[in-house]
Amino acid sequence: MASVAKLLKTAEKYGVKVVDCGNGHFQLEGRLLVNYYPTSKYQTAYVAGTVGGPRGVDEFRAVMMALKTPILAPGKEKAKRKNGTRLIRWKLWQLGYRHCYVCKCAFNSFDETTLEHIIPLDRGGLDHPNNRTLSHEPCNRLRANNMPELEGAQTPVNVLPRMDVLVQAAPPSKGMAGLLGLPPMGNPPAEGDPPW
Ligand SMILES: [Zn+2]
Repeated sequence: MASVAKLLKTAEKYGVKVVDCGNGHFQLEGRLLVNYYPTSKYQTAYVAGTVGGPRGVDEFRAVMMALKTPILAPGKEKAKRKNGTRLIRWKLWQLGYRHCYVCKCAFNSFDETTLEHIIPLDRGGLDHPNNRTLSHEPCNRLRANNMPELEGAQTPVNVLPRMDVLVQAAPPSKGMAGLLGLPPMGNPPAEGDPPW
């Protein structure tokens, strides 16, 4: 059986926060959020938003799971993608997801969005609201089934901001040009500009 004292010590060493959820359930908050049952019979651990996790996980491995990119999942463990991607994207858009998860830039329009999975399905991620976000199509393709954002990340990437915060932050009132400090589109070209 894994020990809670050792878990706390190991987590502290690697800068992972441990939350005691009661009943032997601990959450490890590193770059990823891990649910861990160190004193249970099977000592299971799984990254939040994934299909499941291994058994017999010791304290060190659990802490590492909170810090490292989840390993590629074998085919049978891969979550099925649901249909209706456009509606799912629209719901996220309405919740205030207006920036690409990968490059962090604002979308110019809804039509630029693609459905992005925070934990890639190939790495055990679920096709579930907790694991969904939006990205540009080229960014989505570039990221593929990797998680480059885990390099140097300071906060858990699969802990979403509170919904009310997202909604508040949603509609850019000045338009993108204003937010970026650019002149509004459609201005006449300044004198001396080339004619194209
Ligand atoms: Zn992007």
